[in-house]
Amino acid sequence: MQQEHIAAEKLATMNFDVSDEQKIVLSVVDEACKKIRPIEDKCYLEHRFNDMVLPIFKEAHLLGLPISRDYGDGQGADSLTYALALERVGREGTGVRTFFSGHTSLGQLTLQKWGNEEQKERYLPKTTRGEMIMAFGLTEPTAGSDPASLKTSFEEKGSDFYLNGSKAWISNGSIADLIIVFAYPKGKSEGMSAFLIERNSEGFSAEAIKNKLGLPTSDTGLLYFTNCKVPRENCLGPVGKGLSIAYSALMSGRLSVAAGCVGVAQDCLDEAVKYSKERIQHKKKIGKHQLVQREIAKISVELEAARLLTYRAAIAKTESDNDPKNAELRNKADWMIAQAKYYAANASFDAADRAVQVFGANGFSFENRPARHLVDTRVCRIYEGTDQILEQKMAVKLLGSEYEAYS
Ligand SMILES: Cc1cc2nc3c(=O)[nH]c(=O)nc-3n(C[C@H](O)[C@H](O)[C@H](O)COP(=O)(O)OP(=O)(O)OC[C@H]3O[C@@H](n4cnc5c(N)ncnc54)[C@H](O)[C@@H]3O)c2cc1C
Repeated sequence: MQQEHIAAEKLATMNFDVSDEQKIVLSVVDEACKKIRPIEDKCYLEHRFNDMVLPIFKEAHLLGLPISRDYGDGQGADSLTYALALERVGREGTGVRTFFSGHTSLGQLTLQKWGNEEQKERYLPKTTRGEMIMAFGLTEPTAGSDPASLKTSFEEKGSDFYLNGSKAWISNGSIADLIIVFAYPKGKSEGMSAFLIERNSEGFSAEAIKNKLGLPTSDTGLLYFTNCKVPRENCLGPVGKGLSIAYSALMSGRLSVAAGCVGVAQDCLDEAVKYSKERIQHKKKIGKHQLVQREIAKISVELEAARLLTYRAAIAKTESDNDPKNAELRNKADWMIAQAKYYAANASFDAADRAVQVFGANGFSFENRPARHLVDTRVCRIYEGTDQILEQKMAVKLLGSEYEAYS
């Protein structure tokens, strides 16, 4: 599959016009984002969790945007509409957007795709209404880029499963009511399975991770399972299909990261342009200094490139979702999403760095959003596939699987 081939094939049909329906969704998202901004500002400076994200987005009926209307407050948005919404949310900060990635992209969408009807009926309405928050627990203290090496185990006893192990760096981890958790059968390193774990399950506990580089307003948790009892009906998807479930979840998760990063880059551009028109040095607005203009020009180009890759990936994801058995469409979407996430994560970090530069010393203060974006968006080059893992994934797609750097 050649990149040129994909580009040529899509050129005639790519249409990023925002439809009337999308405009309505975006105006609701915009309203909610305007409400969250002053609260997020305050929480960030006080270095504390923003507990208003949930009620504000709940009131706006945005906690199940891409989930089917069959379930509670699901709005049935396609991937592009959802990406546009997350782009807007991303402007408020990576912490706010990460909440959605954990709850909706990794949590709800995975449950919707792999759950049986009884599980979906039991949990999706509550999660779309914000009565239950979701998280996705794959990473462990000793298993990150290589999730196949995870150690959490499950054992079948009677009609229940018992899980033992731990998970690290889980978005929404210490606030979630329902977590998708991956484990191997006890004593084995194959046959990974996925489970839906409720917060009040016997043998489960969680705590928030402190001293993070960024994301002070968003929860990242450590999870512990000590003979954690999980009823049989909470096994998600076919037993032994855990890795496939995890990788499919990462497609939605990566797209959400890419969209959020586009929003971050947009906010950095807006802030840099505004500040350049206000700040005066050498008797001129700094926007009149050509070297400052260069920073603005570079942010804008990176932003638009990231945006196009992300929208293209979102459209590919919708095509794949509409024809789930088509492996070619899935592979195409997977590759485009990897490109978009990789590019947008780096573009947003670069945009934040340039915006900080335009702000000078004021850019070095968390009072201003460029500084927050700089530390917060850094994680986007780490979670849901590090830069290195995605570079290898993209290269191997072109070189052929015999060039896999690892198995
Ligand atoms: C704030 C935050 C939120 C997160 N949220 C979630 C979540 O909700 N759910 C979840 O399951 N996880 C989550 N994660 C975990 C995240 O997905 C992992 O951190 C990520 O997959 C990388 O794993 P690691 O940190 O263990 O790094 P490692 O895998 O130990 O990698 C360390 C370094 O080695 C490089 N490396 C590793 N293997 C290779 C290779 N084969 N070739 C080249 N380089 C390699 C990496 O690129 C990296 O630079 C979160 C992490 C953070 C920081």
